[in-house]
Amino acid sequence: MTTQRTKLADARRTPRFAGLVTFGRYPRIEDVAPENRPIDWAIYGAPFDSGVTYRPGARFGPRAIREESQYLKPYHIEHDLMISEVLSLADAGDSAVHTYDAEANTATVAQFATDLPDPGTTKPFMLGGDHSNTLANMRAAYHRAGKPAGGLALLHFDSHVDTLDEFLGERYSHASPFIRAVEEGILDPKRMLSVGIKGPLNTRDDLAYARDHGVTIVTCEQWRREGYETIDRLRKAIGDAPTYLTFDIDCIDPVFAPGTGTPSVGGFTSYEALALLRHFASGPIGPPNLVGADVVEVLPDRDVAGNTALIAAHIVFEILCLDGLRKRC
Ligand code: MN
Ligand code: MN
Repeated sequence: MTTQRTKLADARRTPRFAGLVTFGRYPRIEDVAPENRPIDWAIYGAPFDSGVTYRPGARFGPRAIREESQYLKPYHIEHDLMISEVLSLADAGDSAVHTYDAEANTATVAQFATDLPDPGTTKPFMLGGDHSNTLANMRAAYHRAGKPAGGLALLHFDSHVDTLDEFLGERYSHASPFIRAVEEGILDPKRMLSVGIKGPLNTRDDLAYARDHGVTIVTCEQWRREGYETIDRLRKAIGDAPTYLTFDIDCIDPVFAPGTGTPSVGGFTSYEALALLRHFASGPIGPPNLVGADVVEVLPDRDVAGNTALIAAHIVFEILCLDGLRKRC
């Protein structure tokens, strides 16, 4: 008999359309069996979207992702990985938020994620919410990983680099999480890889900070033209360093993922997004040493038939599988 690190209801007996909703039908954190503690990943929501520069509504993202995740099955065909046998996973509910103040919200969400049980073992996986929440979860991941010298490495999927110093006079918004993270010493820009960047932008200066500080940018166009060469080079440089992975759903083309607040055309197909993540397992270096992750910017009111939230749930699964593969090694 195989061990179940994550106890899942048998969907052939308890159907996926029945019961209370948690991410992936994983147990609530308070319900995890004693033999499965400490858990590997605490999945929680950050329902905050007052850090957006355009359309609001991502505060409803965590609920929508959980709803669509009911159809997320645990076995990964390509990796031959049964995630519930390798990782202990749980839904930790939603963080408190500070609805009218992005800087205060960052502190509130960071405190919630820092206070999750078993730091050093349990890693925080955040469902956004807008991208300003990522600074909060990165802060928590950095502390929980024992404040690694030089800060975390970052694998960043997005249409936007999110390194503007300010937007409409505000220093805390979804346009600025990574410049703040560098200033706080929790992110090493020389080990930051931004994949899927595309325009148009307000000005060419929008990329200046990232370029001046050694961030590696792989535009969507460049990846189509050159493939994985630049990605592999930086992945090799990162090696086993503690790494955070952030996935802004707007890197996927709005045809596939219309439910987002700052849509950018010409993005990845849903298949390409999955393939990019799977590459980190099959590439020359092996799965990264993840200490925290998130999927952000899902805006259900602009979604069609739940597509965007469904893709988001599968992106969460792909990221967790990378860690499952690493643990299995
Ligand atoms: Mn972003
Ligand atoms: Mn974006």
